[in-house]
Formats: sequence, C-alpha cells, structure tokens
Amino acid sequence: MELLLPRACAGCAVAGTVLCPRCREVLAAVPRRVDTVVDTHVPVFALGPYAEAHRGVILAAKERGNLAVRRLVGAVIGAGVRHLQAAGELTHDVVLVPAPTRQRSARLRGGDPVSAFCHSSGLPAVDLLRLDPATADQTGLGASGRRANMAGRVRLHRAAPGSPVVLVDDVVTTGATLAASVERLLIAGATVQAALVVAAA
Ligand SMILES: [Zn+2]
Repeated sequence: MELLLPRACAGCAVAGTVLCPRCREVLAAVPRRVDTVVDTHVPVFALGPYAEAHRGVILAAKERGNLAVRRLVGAVIGAGVRHLQAAGELTHDVVLVPAPTRQRSARLRGGDPVSAFCHSSGLPAVDLLRLDPATADQTGLGASGRRANMAGRVRLHRAAPGSPVVLVDDVVTTGATLAASVERLLIAGATVQAALVVAAA
C-alpha cells in the first residue's frame, strides 16, 4: 500500500509519516468538557477544537479505507476514555456506542469511521444506533434546523447494553445528533454517562 499511497501526516500533511510526532502530541491532550447549543442531557467531552491536527485526522479518517488513521484515532479515543475513568468522570464498565451516521455517506466512505474508532479503541464497543434514511444532511442547517432534522430519526437495531454507555462521535457542532442519540438510548432504558468527541466545532 505504501507504494500506492504517498505517506503524509494526517494532521498537518508533512511528508513521510501517517501521523507526525507534533500532531501525536496535540492529539494526546486530555479531553475537556464543552458546552453545546442543544442540551445533550449528558456531559460532552472533546479531545480538541475542530482545527489543525484534530480536523486533519477526522478528514483523513473519512477517506475510503484509511485504516491506519482510523486505528490511530481509535487509540486516542481509548486514551481519552481511560483518562476520564481515572478522573472519576466515567465508570470502568462503560461500553462505547458510535453516534449514528447516514448510511449512504458511510457506504461512500468505505464504512463508518466513527464505528472504526470505537472498535479500535481497545474498549468494549457496540454498533447500536442508525439514522432513519430520510434524515437530511445536516450541513448548512442551524441549531434549530438540526434539532428538527434529528428529532425521532435515531433507531436502535439491537437491544441496549446493560453496561453504561459513552456515546462517541467525530465532531460536535450544535449537539443535535448527540441529543437525539442520548434521548433514544434513554428511552431504551440505557444509562448514558457522557459523550466523547474527537473535536468540537
Ligand atoms: Zn502532523
């Protein structure tokens, strides 16, 4: 594969490596609590702002078949969860649940990157949530538009786990996707401890 794909840092595009030492350091920052416009009902933690290395790896992970970057981001998510466990923000029995994505866009990307992050985090993870196919792309919608677009659109395709859940997503913008997902999980009887995102826009 290296012969086919020239290597460049996913965070900053410097040549020669999947992720350069400087971007690794930026991504190793501890998760911080962020505020969202839409009430998500649980604390939301972000590993960084939607800029520079964080933005770079999110975009790179969306490229079809970019497994190396997906695994790296998964490891960063795993480290973030363990930090929050050590800080007492999360219990040690949590299971990661990827936030739902529109299936068409996930297929075009060669699988859902957020699901890949969760399954390469080293922590228990279960794909549980799906978006109603009729859900419109959120791009260009404001907070109230996103809230309306997401309301009632999240589906469960298997039983909710008995263990407490940490909802995971790549980017939080208004919090509308997280809020709709948390609401659906609560209706299903799940305990949701927090949401963790790679970046806050
Ligand atoms: Zn870099």
